[in-house]
Amino acid sequence: KTVVPSDIEIAQQASMKRIFEIADGLDIEEEELEPYGRYKAKLSLNILKRLHTKENGKLILVTAINPTPAGEGKSTVTVGLGQALHKLGKNAVIAMREPSLGPTMGMKGGATGGGFSQVLPMEDINLHFTGDIHAITTANNALAAMIDNHIHQGNQLRIDTRRISWKRVVDLNDRALRKVVIGLGGPVQGVPREDGFDITVASEIMAVFCLAKDLIDLKLRLSRIVVAYDIDKNPITVKDLNVEGALTLLLKDALQPNLVQTLEHTPAIIHGGPFANIAHGCNSVIATQMAAKLGDYVVTEAGFGADLGAEKFLHIKSPSLGFNPEVVVIVATIRALKMHGGVSKDNLKEENVEALKNGIANLKKHIETIQSFGLPFVVALNEFVTDTEMEVSYVLDWCREHNIPISLTQVWEKGGDGGVALAETVLQQIENKKAAYTPLYVQEDTLEQKLEKIAVNVYGAKGVELLPAAKKQLQQIEGEGWGNLPVCMAKTQYSLSDDAKLLGRPEDFVITIRDLKPSVGAGFIVALTGSIMTMPGLPKEPAALNMDVDEEGRAVGIF
Ligand code: ADP
Repeated sequence: KTVVPSDIEIAQQASMKRIFEIADGLDIEEEELEPYGRYKAKLSLNILKRLHTKENGKLILVTAINPTPAGEGKSTVTVGLGQALHKLGKNAVIAMREPSLGPTMGMKGGATGGGFSQVLPMEDINLHFTGDIHAITTANNALAAMIDNHIHQGNQLRIDTRRISWKRVVDLNDRALRKVVIGLGGPVQGVPREDGFDITVASEIMAVFCLAKDLIDLKLRLSRIVVAYDIDKNPITVKDLNVEGALTLLLKDALQPNLVQTLEHTPAIIHGGPFANIAHGCNSVIATQMAAKLGDYVVTEAGFGADLGAEKFLHIKSPSLGFNPEVVVIVATIRALKMHGGVSKDNLKEENVEALKNGIANLKKHIETIQSFGLPFVVALNEFVTDTEMEVSYVLDWCREHNIPISLTQVWEKGGDGGVALAETVLQQIENKKAAYTPLYVQEDTLEQKLEKIAVNVYGAKGVELLPAAKKQLQQIEGEGWGNLPVCMAKTQYSLSDDAKLLGRPEDFVITIRDLKPSVGAGFIVALTGSIMTMPGLPKEPAALNMDVDEEGRAVGIF
């Protein structure tokens, strides 16, 4: 097998086309393309208006089994599949999330795909890109400043300074900011209170941004955000503070999706990037809609495994989007399946068919979940050079025995060529199988029923248990009339359960709901299980230690 250079080496050696050449291949008019330099451009929201009556392209959703900490190659397969569809002469547009600097500089790395399936310019997209995330940070912190100023200027709304839920954000992993005290230094410095920082991509503004259909919808959703409670425990919203206009203004350019290209010069739209554990974990509704108007096929991705990303895509994003996937691609790797079969992280490179036999139960559960949503699917086995022939044939044979469509993909090693078989299988499923999307719960279900249905049907749990704090919040949330919102589960990505160490397909477990947090602006209730970080910390050896820039300004060490 060939030795593949590092992701950044491949990206830097690639020749890019000018962005207007990429746009030329799509139904985009000249004034609808706003170049940000040579290789990136913002797309005007006018495209959605102009192509309003055009039929949507067919939506292909890429999800995965529960991943190892390194990720199983969802982004890589998403990009590779987009490239492969072009090899088959199909007009496919990719829609993906914008990477957050937290994981890029921390442990997980960026999110632009890998090997010969990447989006470009890789460094730009992983660093500041077109500034969208900075705009979201600014809008979030502008709101925080407005709240504190309101209190300082007399607190007409009688905001209870102990019940302010709005936090400040920064798009970095910085554990020292999790809890802070602000307003110290005497009367002119404001009113002292406890505060804290979240990472930008975990903020409600990011979630709102990604679910909004247009500027007006963005403003409406922003206005509904609950930032605090008054001394009688009534919710205080952005509308009460009268700042939805200013916040929308700060976000108006960011709301336009970004057009870039893959290594094979096929179009990709990169826009919005909410966390998949605390938020809903997919790129913006606007980006997916635009990809569906510009492409005959849209390949898009939902964060982490199907238990988190796909479930939220289907229950939270689909209703805003207005259409559903025609087919779901479930990415699996031999290494993750072995991990689910009990192999420790350090031994994943050794052949172990016995472990695969146990670990494949995890894949089986995710397949059942996608089937219960009524959607056709294809398993994409993302091949690594360390996979052995015995291991690969075990998985392929297991799928054939169970009549499961599977395709071995080598998009990381070979780019689009390595994904042609997958693309063909995906097209066959779209052609031959009818997608009959059925949500697993309905709006009218109570919040407890919604939680129960997700826990039982998606995670395979016996049920849910609400801790006393969550029960109290449930009452309050229902009292405010927010009980009809969907739930957004905040859960570990490593396990089907809420315990990161329970791998494979755990049974006989209960999901414990610690906390319920209304995200009324985004339009969902976050249910926190276990301890979910909304501000991650850095590891002992952050990726940043290997980053550098040479004399010419070329980036080093991003992956
Ligand atoms: P996910 O989207 O599931 O988190 P990514 O696509 O971002 O995963 O891939 C995570 C990392 O793994 C990237 O650095 C990528 O280059 C690498 N990777 C993905 N697929 C392969 C493969 N088949 N062989 C080797 N490395 C891979």
